[in-house]
Amino acid sequence: MEQTKQQPQSILGLPLNELIHEFLKAGFSKLDAKRVFPWIHTKLAMSFDEMSDVPKQVRTNLPKFFSLDRPVCKILQESSDGTAKALLEFTDENCVETVFIPDERRNTICISSQVGCLIGCKFCNTGTQQFRRNLTSSEIMAQIIYWIERQKHLGNPPITNIVFMGMGEPLLNSKNLFATLEILLSKKTYDFSRNKITVSTSGIITEAITDLAKFGVKLAISLHAPNDKLRSELMPINNKYKIAEILSASKKYLKQSNTNHITFEYLLLYDVNDYDECAIQLADLLKSFGNKCRVNLIVFNNWDGSQFIGSSNDRVNQFSKILLSKGIRTIIRKSRGRDIMAACGQLKSSDKK
Ligand code: SAH
Ligand code: SF4
Repeated sequence: MEQTKQQPQSILGLPLNELIHEFLKAGFSKLDAKRVFPWIHTKLAMSFDEMSDVPKQVRTNLPKFFSLDRPVCKILQESSDGTAKALLEFTDENCVETVFIPDERRNTICISSQVGCLIGCKFCNTGTQQFRRNLTSSEIMAQIIYWIERQKHLGNPPITNIVFMGMGEPLLNSKNLFATLEILLSKKTYDFSRNKITVSTSGIITEAITDLAKFGVKLAISLHAPNDKLRSELMPINNKYKIAEILSASKKYLKQSNTNHITFEYLLLYDVNDYDECAIQLADLLKSFGNKCRVNLIVFNNWDGSQFIGSSNDRVNQFSKILLSKGIRTIIRKSRGRDIMAACGQLKSSDKK
C-alpha cells in the first residue's frame, strides 16, 4: 500500500460503487468499502477509528488516503423565525451558504451546488458573485450532514425535506448532484423519500434533466415571466432555452419521473412582471398542465444594490387570485430568514465581484 502525496480525499459524497472504486485504487478491498459506507452515513462517524468492524490495520491506513472531515462553519446566523444560515468553508477556502428552515410540520434544508453562479439572473444576489467552481459531491453532502448533525446535537427533530435552491445552478453540476441524490435515496443510508427532495433549475434543458428524472425527485422551474421577451430581460439563460422548450421538457419530466406535479416559481417584481396581464398570460401558458403544475409566487427578497422592488401584498394577492380563478394551483411562498439574508436569492458567500 503506497502512501499518497496528495491531500486525503473526502469520501462524504461518494456513492457505494464509487467508494469501492476509490478503495480498490488505493489498495483496500471491496469489503472494506462496504463496511465503511454505512459508518459514514448512518452512524455519521467522524473518524475511521470508530469503525469497529473494519480491521485495525485498514483503519490505521485509511486516513492517509481518505478524509471524513467536515467543512468549517465560519458563521452561523439564526433568524427570529427559527431559520438558520451557515457559511461553510471548504479545504480550498471557498465558501457556500446553506440554510435551515423549520416550520410546524417540516424541517427543510436548502443546499448549494456551486460557489457562485454563471447564470446571472438580474434579480439574484448569488448571480452578482463571481463564479468559482462546482462543488464536489462530498461538499454538497457535507452541507446536508452539517444540518443533520446539528439537529441531533440540539436534540431536535430530524431533517424532513431537502431543496436544491441554494447558491448555483444544480443542473450545471449534474454529475455531483446525482451522486448526492444516489446516497440520499439509498435504502442503505438515509432512505429519503423522493417526494421530499426538490431540485430547482433556471431552465437548463439538456440531457441532465432527463437523467434527473430517473431519480424521481420533484422539479421546480424558475420561470419568473410569462413571455420570452420579459424572461430574457430578467434571465439571460432564456436566450438559450426558451419558455416553450422549458414547458415541453417539464411535461416529459412528469412522465419520466412519475412525479405528480412540476412547480413553477414566479418572483413578483414591482412594475416588471406583476400586472394582471402577466397573470393571465401565465395561466394560459400553464393551462395544458391541468392539475400537474403548481405556481409558487415568491415575494422578492431585497439585497444591497438590487435594481428591483418587491410587489406589494395587494399585488401579490391579486396575482394569486387571477391564477386561482383560472384553475392554476397557486401558493404564496412565505419568505423566511430575511433578517439574516437567508431567504431565496439572498445567498452570497463572497464580496468579490
Ligand atoms: N439556480 C436555481 C436554484 C437556486 S435559486 C434556480 O434559479 O432555480 C432558488 C430560487 O430563488 C429560484 O427560484 C430563484 O429564481 C429565486 N430567487 C433568486 N433571487 C431571488 C430574490 N432576490 N428574491 C426571491 N427569490 C429569488
Ligand atoms: Fe443562478 Fe438561480 Fe440565482 Fe439565477 S436565480 S443567478 S440560476 S442561483
